[in-house]
Amino acid sequence: MPNMDQVGIAAKDAKGPWGTPNAADPPCSLAEVMSEQLAKQLDEECSAFPTIPEVSEPLFVVEETDTSSDLMLAQMLQMEFDREFDTQLRIEEKKFNGDSKVSISFENYRMVHPFDDSDSSEDEVDWQDTPRDPYRADKPMTTSRKGFVGKGKNITTKHDEVVCGRKNTARMENFAPEVQVGDGIGMDLKLSNQVYNALKQHCYAEQRRSARLHEKKEHSTAEHAVDPRTRLLMYKMVNAGILENINGCISTGKEAVVFHADGGSLEDKTIPEECVLKVFKTTLNEFKNRDQYTTDYYRFKDRFSKLNPRKIIRMWAEKEMHNLTRMRKAGILCPEVVVLKKHILVMSFIGQNHVPAPKLKEVKLGSEDMRGAYYQVLHMMQQLYEECSLVHADLSEYNMLWHEGKVWVIDVSQSVELTHPHGLEFLFRDCRNVSTFFLKAGVADTMNVYDLFNAVSGLQIRADNEAEFINQIEALEKVRSTCRSRPGRASQPPAMEGHLSRR
Ligand code: ADP
Ligand code: MN
Repeated sequence: MPNMDQVGIAAKDAKGPWGTPNAADPPCSLAEVMSEQLAKQLDEECSAFPTIPEVSEPLFVVEETDTSSDLMLAQMLQMEFDREFDTQLRIEEKKFNGDSKVSISFENYRMVHPFDDSDSSEDEVDWQDTPRDPYRADKPMTTSRKGFVGKGKNITTKHDEVVCGRKNTARMENFAPEVQVGDGIGMDLKLSNQVYNALKQHCYAEQRRSARLHEKKEHSTAEHAVDPRTRLLMYKMVNAGILENINGCISTGKEAVVFHADGGSLEDKTIPEECVLKVFKTTLNEFKNRDQYTTDYYRFKDRFSKLNPRKIIRMWAEKEMHNLTRMRKAGILCPEVVVLKKHILVMSFIGQNHVPAPKLKEVKLGSEDMRGAYYQVLHMMQQLYEECSLVHADLSEYNMLWHEGKVWVIDVSQSVELTHPHGLEFLFRDCRNVSTFFLKAGVADTMNVYDLFNAVSGLQIRADNEAEFINQIEALEKVRSTCRSRPGRASQPPAMEGHLSRR
């Protein structure tokens, strides 16, 4: 088993932050290609948009050799040791201060700080990167075979608390060989017998727990799909009880990896029995085209320049969370948000018994169900537009699941406000995907893309062909954004009223 240093070297040598691409990855859909093309085109057209700063180095690296789980295990154990250490520290603090009115806090010496994703610290999981270790001690003393060292008053026996503590620390390496303790990380850790025994028990329990965490990986890619930091964050969620188990990878997409998990329990919140973790990828490559979706999003506004790339990724996760919450309030069928931790969004699982609900793309529906699905989608698009003031912006048969006879919508991190300068174009693209799909699926009632667009938006755009229709959409977007930038004006100038009117 490699030590931490070896892992560190392996990590440096790794080629890409997400490992080598999986050959079994499904081919991407036409819809995805289409939307990327449009994204690129819009990207070029809209040079005024804020740009995401380039990163010169990959943010995270995955080891090439199969040491990742060792590293994770080591980190988990370290975390537990730290926690135990803190407990001991608290005891020491109490003993030290006694009943004294003036007390000295040992707070600064604590290793673990509460789990909190709202912190502004760069990375809470970087707990091991303590530049100045307060526990660093001189070289540990060793006793001779006689059982004591020194002379006269300075004699030290093997029963000396400090020596015994160090021995315990050394012995601990027998049952936790992955963890560098004592001198290994320059920390002179002294364990009392009581703490040593407690740690030993805890370590064994933790190893069993960790084994459980890994045994169910139906997909061997699960672990390798995310970087060590993410894995640690995932483990922390299990440790904190939010999740009972993280089982396997449901999907490895361009921008996110999705895992199935068994819900745990929180005091003040019920957690669904089955959950998913959507892990937003922490490389920026796939997010480069995404700035087109952000201009209107007030949280994003003017903040790009100040933010580091990792924070930008977290904001996509945050955006998905806000959009899902808004949609659920409007009664739209979509996952329920459980918790957001940095770039990991935990939400309810759409499916049953570990089997995810099929995408509309995959499911074979009878003609009545398909027709029903079409009207559900139409209604959902209208609700999204009118009640949530949102345009999905990536709506297609790939982002709608068929579950319990109903259509559920997912993947809303890129969804935009209606006021977005390209919102109507995105809506048109969504409408085209939806009409094309249901027409092909044989739903006779399917409206054409123009009627669907008007039905959802309440506009009455008339045109002879698609190019003209889109021209009018763009013209309307321009007028609207000009009006918005001049406060006090109506959203549509009188000249346009007859041509483009609200329902
Ligand atoms: P992306 O397409 O950006 O990779 P998605 O949010 O669409 O991310 O998730 C990818 C896939 O994971 C989906 O197509 C779906 O199969 C599955 N998935 C995502 N969220 C859920 C969920 N809440 N319940 C069940 N399956 C889900
Ligand atoms: Mn998707």
